[in-house]
Amino acid sequence: MALEGGTPVRAKLLPYSRQSIDEQDVCAVTDVLRSDWLTTGPAIPAFEQAFAAFTGAQHAVAVNSGTAALHAAMHAISITEGDEVIVPAMTFAATANAVLYCGGTPVFADSDPETLLIDPKKAESLITAKTKAIIAVDYGGQPCEYDALRAIADRHHLVLVADACHSVGGSYKGRPVGSLVDMSCFSFHPVKPMTTGEGGMITTDNAEFANRMRRFRNHGITSDHRQRHEEGGWFYAMEELGYNYRLTDIHAVLGMAQMKRVSEWTKRRQAIAKRYDAAFAPLPQVRPLKVHPDVSHAYHLYVLRLRLEACTADREKFFKALRMENIGVNVHYIPVHTHPYYTKRFGVRAGLCPVAEAAYEQIISIPMFSGMVDQDAADVIEAVEKVCQAYAR
Ligand SMILES: *Cc1c(COP(=O)(O)O)cnc(C)c1O
Repeated sequence: MALEGGTPVRAKLLPYSRQSIDEQDVCAVTDVLRSDWLTTGPAIPAFEQAFAAFTGAQHAVAVNSGTAALHAAMHAISITEGDEVIVPAMTFAATANAVLYCGGTPVFADSDPETLLIDPKKAESLITAKTKAIIAVDYGGQPCEYDALRAIADRHHLVLVADACHSVGGSYKGRPVGSLVDMSCFSFHPVKPMTTGEGGMITTDNAEFANRMRRFRNHGITSDHRQRHEEGGWFYAMEELGYNYRLTDIHAVLGMAQMKRVSEWTKRRQAIAKRYDAAFAPLPQVRPLKVHPDVSHAYHLYVLRLRLEACTADREKFFKALRMENIGVNVHYIPVHTHPYYTKRFGVRAGLCPVAEAAYEQIISIPMFSGMVDQDAADVIEAVEKVCQAYAR
C-alpha cells in the first residue's frame, strides 16, 4: 500500500465528486453577462419553469442554496417556536439547521440499517402533538420510502418535505424526484448532481407555498425589481420578514444548461455504480448499501460499508490508506445530533440513534461523478481491492 511506502494506484488525486462544465455552460454564462439582467431577470422564471417540467412539479422556486431552499420550505409551512420537525440523524447539518432557523425543534430519527434512509417506523414513533412535518433525506441519491412516509404524514396531518439535495434525476415507482412529496428541496453546489456554483430550488404543487417562498427569498417583499420596472412603478410592500435568498441570472443560465444533461449524467453514474457493485460483491471486507428495486437511484454518493468483523483496521485506517492511493474518499455523514452544537444545545448524546451512529463508524464514500472515465472507476476498484487485501482478517 502507498500508506506503507508503496506506489499509489493513481499519480493524482481523484476527487469524490466534481462538477462537469462544458463550452455550452461557459457560453450561457458569458451571454448573460452581456445582457441587461444579472439578477431578478428573465432567466429566473425560465429556469424555474424548465426545472418544474423536468421534475413533474407544478411550481419551482429558485433560491441561492440548498440550505436556503430548506429554510424557505420551513417558513412556507410556518414552522415556529414549539413546533417539532422530524429529520434523519444521517444527513448534512443543513437539514436540521433549517428547522432551527425558524425557531422549531429538529427531532432526530434513526436510519434503516440496510439503506441508511430514514426509517419510517422510527419516524412515526417520534410523532407528538407538536410535530408539524417530516423532512426525508434521499441519502446518497436513493429516494426514501415515500409510500410509507406519505401514509404516516397523512395519518398524523403532517407536511412531508424531501431534502432532495442528492437525488435530482432519480425516481420512485416511476415518478421523478421533485413531485413525490409536498415540497422537495434541491442544492446546486458543485459536488451535487448538477451545479450553478451555489444555488437551490424548491418544487411543489402547492401555489400558496410557492408564493410564500418567492416572497421569503426577496425580503418578504411582494414584487421584485423587474416587475416594478415593467410596471413603471416604484411602490412595494414588505409583508413579512424575509431574506435575500435570490439566485442570480448568471447562476440560473448555468442551471438551465446543466439540466439538459442530468438524465444522461444519472445513467453514467448508475453504470459506474453497477461496476462498483460487481467488483465489490466478492470482497468480504465491504458491502454496499441496499437499493430498493422500485427506485431509480441518482447516485450522488456511492457509500461503501466496512464489515469491521472481517477487517484488521478501522474506518480511519481504510480512509487514510485510500487517500494515500490518491482516491478521494469522504465520509457522509457524522450523525447530526452528535455535532458539538447540537450536544451543547440539546444535551443529545451518543445513543439517541444507534443505527446511524454505528453506521458512521463503517461508511466511506468513494469517488462518484458523471465525469469519471472508465479508467477512474477501474483505479477506485483496484485501490479498494488492494486495501481490503492488506486489511483482511
Ligand atoms: C448539500 C446539502 C445541503 C445544503 O445545500 P447547499 O446548497 O450546500 O446549501 C442540504 N442537505 C443535504 C443532504 C445536502 O447534501
